Amino acid sequence: MELEKFKGLHVRFFGKELPEEVTASEEYEAYVDAIHEDEACYNWATAEKLKSKGFDYESFCCMMMADKVYGSLDEDGEIKYDEPEVIINKWDEDLYGIPVHNGSATMVVINYCPWCGTKLSA
Ligand SMILES: [Zn+2]
Repeated sequence: MELEKFKGLHVRFFGKELPEEVTASEEYEAYVDAIHEDEACYNWATAEKLKSKGFDYESFCCMMMADKVYGSLDEDGEIKYDEPEVIINKWDEDLYGIPVHNGSATMVVINYCPWCGTKLSA
């Protein structure tokens, strides 16, 4: 999808309670597909979301990592431990890890971004 077209749909659809005739429409379906399948659309929509939350996404290797790290933090910016939806953690010293959800704070440190392949550790 053209990014400009996507932006127009995003304004109409994002963050709104949509009636079923809208969510069942081809236009809405194309919008949702674009988020999942079109990298430019996904990156733009994710940047908009993180910007609106005041999250500094620009310091991350890619939007996927920025979004997943954002999702790993609570309202105070603290890491949520043992939260099943959290799939990645980032610590202050640019250390990244995959949490093991076994009731403890266990995690597996990773050296490369699982999404874009960027080397993470200095
Ligand atoms: Zn990345």
